[in-house]
Amino acid sequence: MGITCSKFNYLDIFKMSSHRREVKVKAIIFGAPGAGKGTYSTRLKAKLGVEVIAMGDIFRAQVKENSELGKRVKSYVEKGALVPDEIVIEVLKQHLARIPQGVGVILDGFPRTLEQAKTLEEIFELDVILLLEVPDWIIIERLSSRRICKNCGAVYNTRFLKSKVEGICDKCGGELYQRSDDSPDVIKKRLKIYQDQTSPLLVYYKEKRMPIITSETNSIDSPPEPLVEQMYEELKKLKMALNV
Ligand code: ADP
Ligand code: ZN
Repeated sequence: MGITCSKFNYLDIFKMSSHRREVKVKAIIFGAPGAGKGTYSTRLKAKLGVEVIAMGDIFRAQVKENSELGKRVKSYVEKGALVPDEIVIEVLKQHLARIPQGVGVILDGFPRTLEQAKTLEEIFELDVILLLEVPDWIIIERLSSRRICKNCGAVYNTRFLKSKVEGICDKCGGELYQRSDDSPDVIKKRLKIYQDQTSPLLVYYKEKRMPIITSETNSIDSPPEPLVEQMYEELKKLKMALNV
């Protein structure tokens, strides 16, 4: 377990951030399904004062509401397939437009394809990638026992990150449920899509010399807080979080 940061362009980042008046980091959180993107980004949101746009949460909420968008994406989300790029990109643009100038953003679940990454470049000045590296066996174990709060979206696990009262959210008292795509077959499919279509994006960003903060997890029951803390420290070093 640990955190590393690619150091190749510290100087560029320093130059960039030294004439910024405020810290408004623009990040993507990147990792396989079940790597902990939601868990990390909600914790970082509180620490950094940024907004999080979580594509999967947006789609699930729309499916639940049975909105026009929900109807268009339902079958993809339930099967663990990727929603077509043009839909995802449109939704991302709408959500980005709602974030006030000067507020930092973490994107969770976007980009997932090269096409999405290329579009992002036109509309978002990405500063850093927060990469979660977690072995497949941990992911499979975690996803199959994952539970989510119906009300606030907080993530629990019946084995490794239990709520105080079974089936009830610690934060808001909401009811916990299991996602329909957290079944063994769909998990396998999502992992394969990640391998084939999403993980190549890392090569793309490395070639662009994008700073990457990597958090590695090797143990199934390690709590997220120490890793979140380390990631926060790395962001501070890069002047992407306030030094408080
Ligand atoms: P995961 O745990 O697989 O990372 P998410 O909650 O981020 O799950 O996403 C759930 C589902 O929403 C995906 O399996 C996919 O169907 C759809 N989805 C989310 N983000 C995208 C995206 N950027 N491109 C295409 N489909 C997406
Ligand atoms: Zn809750």
